[in-house]
Amino acid sequence: MGIFEGRRLVVATRNRGKMREFSRGLRGLAISLSSLHDFPHLPAIREDGASFLENARKKATLVAAYTKVPVLADDSGLEVDYLAGAPGVFSARFAGANATDEDNNKKLLRLLAGVPLGKRGARFRCALVLALPGEPPVTVESTVEGYIGTEPRGEGGFGYDPLFFLPEFNKSFSQLGPDLKNKISHRGKALAQMREYLLQLGWAN
Ligand code: IMP
Repeated sequence: MGIFEGRRLVVATRNRGKMREFSRGLRGLAISLSSLHDFPHLPAIREDGASFLENARKKATLVAAYTKVPVLADDSGLEVDYLAGAPGVFSARFAGANATDEDNNKKLLRLLAGVPLGKRGARFRCALVLALPGEPPVTVESTVEGYIGTEPRGEGGFGYDPLFFLPEFNKSFSQLGPDLKNKISHRGKALAQMREYLLQLGWAN
């Protein structure tokens, strides 16, 4: 039996970019993280909720019922003021069902073409839900405010990172690098709170 046998945590995602941030944000805890890549036969989950929290709650509960181990689910996305909050819960499939990050970024730039910087305000939202067997789900939400640049900048990160700029740095999330992104991002801040909760549960060692 591995030393982590009793402290397994499944992160309910197949997104490798998100998974890297979970590993970073939960580093040092005595847990072994798995993603949904370890559960290839898990039935597809329709993310049809009206909010990030609703979707995260659905993912956490269904995956926990299937895997019978603790599950942490993230639902997150981008809200652009000029687009009345779009793409929102449709962030992953903004440019279509099988859209790549590049397709989504291109669509976003197209819809904002000619819009001045002062009207390009946006935020990322992240809802995290922890489902522990036999316990009510624990939820945490966080946001980060920024603006959408006029062209992609930087190489790191995933999703809309090359287009999401932080006014205090005048740099995109891609340019900031993973450590700084993790300190200030919607997911980083939500994960820091969840980490505190797991520590209180005695998951430090
Ligand atoms: P979800 O898997 O339905 O939560 O999809 C979230 C989508 O929102 C991702 O595919 C990205 O397009 C976008 N997104 C969420 N968080 C981030 C982030 O930290 N950086 C860039 N894009 C993000």
